[in-house]
Amino acid sequence: MQRVTIAPHQLQHQQISLTDAQLHYLQRVLRLKVGDRFIALDGEGHGWVAILNQEMATATVIKPWQTNLELPLGLHLIIAMPKTGMDDIVRQTTELGVTAIQPVVSDRTLLKPSPNKVERWRRIAQEAMEQSERQCVPVIHDPVSLVEGLQQAPPDQRWICVARQLADHPAPLLLSALLEQSLEPPTPEGNGGEWQGSGTMTLAIGPEGGWTRAEVVGAIAQNYRAVSLGPRILRTVTAPLTAITLMAAVIEHQQSRL
Ligand code: SAH
Repeated sequence: MQRVTIAPHQLQHQQISLTDAQLHYLQRVLRLKVGDRFIALDGEGHGWVAILNQEMATATVIKPWQTNLELPLGLHLIIAMPKTGMDDIVRQTTELGVTAIQPVVSDRTLLKPSPNKVERWRRIAQEAMEQSERQCVPVIHDPVSLVEGLQQAPPDQRWICVARQLADHPAPLLLSALLEQSLEPPTPEGNGGEWQGSGTMTLAIGPEGGWTRAEVVGAIAQNYRAVSLGPRILRTVTAPLTAITLMAAVIEHQQSRL
């Protein structure tokens, strides 16, 4: 069924009042007619099956729409904005399940972000979320400095991807680090041994020119663990896709065995 994202205030007493743009999309782009059903999502995890009314600017909710395609934990991506390719990063990491994207300016970042760009990334995230049939739209934060981005990230599990190892800070493969972590024996409180279905993983990816040594050392000091995605150097556009694919695969594999 086709999906449309609405603002929560558009739904009142089981009636959805559609905006001109949404109506245009439903009728002209998706070719829905009166009486056809579609799914209305509020972008915050709620969805409803609705039916298009005779009065074309409204739809009536028939029932809640339930299915959960979200990853069992949050995935916060810190990305040093590349000069080109940020649109693709937003679109593709949204498809893969990212829950928040924090664009940052690092020492070697070349892109100067404008508010228009950020708005554009938010639109892209919403489209990608609908296309992937997810319920939650990732939050796209306003760009900040790398230092702020690293500090503001959730504290639970922090990773920084490094294309080259620093001699004094070895970076294991992300897959090895994830497996090692998930294989920790359970504690009496029930932690360990499996993903607990909560918390947030943070992942930092550098710009085309890579991180400076000081940036990596600074991140490690803030509890980020340096990890590698393999011996080949990946582009800033490729690295987050590789890392998120790996994380999602490990988490969902663990979950499927519970
Ligand atoms: N020009 C840099 C590479 C930058 S790659 C150099 O030659 O060293 C851009 C970013 O992608 C890196 O900062 C890192 O975060 C990530 N990345 C690329 N390849 C990676 C790999 N093999 N392992 C881990 N991270 C990688």
